[in-house]
Amino acid sequence: MNILVINAGSSSLKYQLLNPETQQVLAKGLCERIGIDGKFTYKPEGKTAIKEADVAMPTHNEAIKAVLDALVDPQNGVIGSMKEIDAVGHRVVHGGEKFAKSVLITGEVMAAIEECNPLAPLHNPANIIGIKACQALMPGTPMVAVFDTAFHQTMPPVAYTYALPYEYYETDKVRRYGFHGTSHKYVTQRAAAMLGKPIEELKLISCHLGNGSSVTAVDGGKSVDTSMGFTPLAGLPMGTRTGDIDAGILEYLMGKYNMDIKEMLNVMNKKSGVLGISGVSSDFRDLESAGKEGNTRAALAVEVFEYGVKKLIGSYAAAMGGVDAVIFTAGVGENGGHNRESIVSGLEFMGIKIDPEKNKVRGEEIDISAEGAAVRTLVIPTNEELMIAIDTAALAK
Ligand code: AMP
Repeated sequence: MNILVINAGSSSLKYQLLNPETQQVLAKGLCERIGIDGKFTYKPEGKTAIKEADVAMPTHNEAIKAVLDALVDPQNGVIGSMKEIDAVGHRVVHGGEKFAKSVLITGEVMAAIEECNPLAPLHNPANIIGIKACQALMPGTPMVAVFDTAFHQTMPPVAYTYALPYEYYETDKVRRYGFHGTSHKYVTQRAAAMLGKPIEELKLISCHLGNGSSVTAVDGGKSVDTSMGFTPLAGLPMGTRTGDIDAGILEYLMGKYNMDIKEMLNVMNKKSGVLGISGVSSDFRDLESAGKEGNTRAALAVEVFEYGVKKLIGSYAAAMGGVDAVIFTAGVGENGGHNRESIVSGLEFMGIKIDPEKNKVRGEEIDISAEGAAVRTLVIPTNEELMIAIDTAALAK
């Protein structure tokens, strides 16, 4: 079964054609600068990537047409015809409280996704454009929506309720939703397989640490708390986002520098996080190099981030009444051995201890726990596309 996975943004679109049963990726790539000057990247399995600039892509329709043409191209294509695409899985950022699972897309589902637009005004409209473009070019092919928020819909009210007047929840749906759900779901399922235990019997803490970061407590396979909130701005300090800060700071800085809320949010989303603290970069590799060269602000930025992850591990273990394994995933979680070491150092009292040799491994699925550690520490490369393809195949069947 071949599944085309689409992740549509406002001016870009990532795609992957894969078989969820064999996990074989037939081709993948990226359309960038849609509506501007169209850049197209296509990488068929086992061959070198093809990159084209100035490809006419005024809208997402032309971008998806370019993807489909490349997939069936006689020379570099990977399938004979579009009939070999059995279904399309779309990443959708926000499913609100309406979607606790992936769904087959119908007219009714489209309307419900559109109703979630105010909750993710930068992302959901782009996801919808991607779905409509595929529907226009591939009529009759089943389409599935896989939501970033769905996995977290199992959180209990005690974890998702903000201490605001309750009407804002009842009327306006202001609550913690959480994101990165597809990644947290994938790595916790893999963790159960690695540990050789049913997920229903495990308490797991999943640390998705990348440019955007979130930590999730997963008890018995269900998300019971997560660090991102109503928006992905909450929780840990990230590449350029603040994470949690005292809301009182907004009034103070907006008054002092005469900023409106848009300017303030721009600072909080684009100029803060480890970039803001260091003044160097949002990339953890740059921060590590700068720190080694004696840049104290770069070193501080990384420490603030690592300290934030450490506190979340402690608090989620408390929330679940224990933890069987801590999982590290995404760019920093998979590759940043130093970051992992700093995060777990001092957590020996909880039974968390890693083996420094095993911790040197990068980007591989591995148990890095020290011998005899009561709590396992696992590195698991995330694979959101595979998770989307698995859900899509199950629903399309
Ligand atoms: P992601 O958002 O999951 O693609 O993660 C991207 C981030 O991973 C980048 O911003 C880097 O800071 C980080 N990263 C990638 N490789 C390494 C590495 N070897 N050590 C530390 N961080 C890394």
